[in-house]
Amino acid sequence: MKGRREFLKLGAGVAAMGATLPLAAAQCGQAPDWHSEYDVVIIGSGFAGLAAAVEAKKLGAKRVVVFEKMGVYGGNSTLNAGQACFAGTDLQKKLGIEDNANLMVQDQLKAGRGLASEALLRASAELGPYVYQLTLDCGSKYRDHIITTGGTSATRSHQVIERSGAGFIQPLLKTAREMGVETYNRHKFDHLIRDEKGRVIGVEIRRGYHFGKEQSGEVIQVRATRGVLMATGGFGYNISFRQAQDPTLTSEVGCTNAKGATGDGLIEMLAAGATPVHLSHIQSGPWASPDEGGFGYGAGFALYNFPHSIAVDRTTGLRFMDEIADRKTRADLELQRRDKDGKPNPALLIVPKAEAKNDPSMEKVLKYNVAWEFDSVEALAKHFDVPLKPLKQQIADWNRYVDEGHDPQFGKRMDAGRGIKLTAPFIVQRLWPKVHYCQGGVQINPKAEVIAAATGQPIPGLYAAGEVTGGVHGVSRLGGCATPECLAFGIIAARSMMEA
Ligand code: ADP
Repeated sequence: MKGRREFLKLGAGVAAMGATLPLAAAQCGQAPDWHSEYDVVIIGSGFAGLAAAVEAKKLGAKRVVVFEKMGVYGGNSTLNAGQACFAGTDLQKKLGIEDNANLMVQDQLKAGRGLASEALLRASAELGPYVYQLTLDCGSKYRDHIITTGGTSATRSHQVIERSGAGFIQPLLKTAREMGVETYNRHKFDHLIRDEKGRVIGVEIRRGYHFGKEQSGEVIQVRATRGVLMATGGFGYNISFRQAQDPTLTSEVGCTNAKGATGDGLIEMLAAGATPVHLSHIQSGPWASPDEGGFGYGAGFALYNFPHSIAVDRTTGLRFMDEIADRKTRADLELQRRDKDGKPNPALLIVPKAEAKNDPSMEKVLKYNVAWEFDSVEALAKHFDVPLKPLKQQIADWNRYVDEGHDPQFGKRMDAGRGIKLTAPFIVQRLWPKVHYCQGGVQINPKAEVIAAATGQPIPGLYAAGEVTGGVHGVSRLGGCATPECLAFGIIAARSMMEA
């Protein structure tokens, strides 16, 4: 299929000339040799991409395609504890939790420290109950227990029974396919294709691509009549790019991400003139364990147990943070735990086994040596070389705070701990943050249209959703808030494309 019009292929050549050059200065090429044509072309098969695919089909799109560069679908969206903050759900009501979208937005604005976008947060939070229902309709199953994540004023983190993002991804993928969405793995997006007016009209794809062999596969050109959605995720695994934004994030800092989180979609959009926002705000997960690779089992264990447990510094035996403060606050404080030579000395999360055993994560962390069990404070202190007296006093003080419902040390929300005391036997996990989420990316408006730096206006035909976008969360993203946002903006992008 041949296109009639002249086109612009925005890639390395154009990038070298400067992302914000007027279009007339960009390279002009031959008319595309279209391999195939779709209404909606989606790049990336994480939360954002798959939610968009399902919603586009719901709205009547005939031809929808998802291209995924890796051998497996789901990206980073599978690598998390399967939690999503929704405000105002039936499950919250059943558990007697009062909450609403406005409260959720206020919590997120606070964590964003003045840099978050209220308009984008509101668009996402208000769609929460719809998103929750869509996941249920696709087949996700939630636990009855809702988790209190850091920095929230109401308990709202709903968790799928798998306790992993796969509990969202698999049902979404299955539903999308049943609805007729075409999905192709090992298909890597390389470039956007634009017409002479600058509208994005298609993409260049490497079919049969193998990750790590950048020139592998055959190049095809795919037409998008309604739009292209970039849902390509973050850049946590692109060490040189992330270090350019934040020099402290060297290769020595661990990362929870899937290997494909290299930011190529983001970089291509920047080459096409998209506005970069907050690229240096890269979040580390305060629940990560240095005793395993990647996201691991420790994250789920810590997330479940933070509300009713304490984290102590090994050199003092004392707490040093509100264990459910926002992520940045905790990660920064954890990174300050050092021995006398300044070397990392990961903090200890001390958990009462009596409560930990109610969550399946305990079995995993014990089995894989990510946490250990101790019968007494003495045994714990001896094993980790923690001063016994202050540690004993700290635990006694903590248990008094539980009784009094007030934490004078760090102002922790004591209702989140549900009156659970810290008593032996204990399960202990070490804590050391890992790069987890890029708050920065391209600027979008509340319709998920990508904004051009040169004009402040949408780039026609180009949409973005999920971690590849920036500015939604500002300085610190609250736990459990990426999943609903990625899903919501995928849905919003699909609606915008179907309206266009
Ligand atoms: P989000 O949570 O924002 O949806 P994820 O990281 O879960 O993001 O998913 C993004 C997906 O996009 C990953 O599966 C990743 O492999 C895929 N991806 C990234 N870059 C490309 C690309 N150039 N072509 C095709 N797929 C890509």
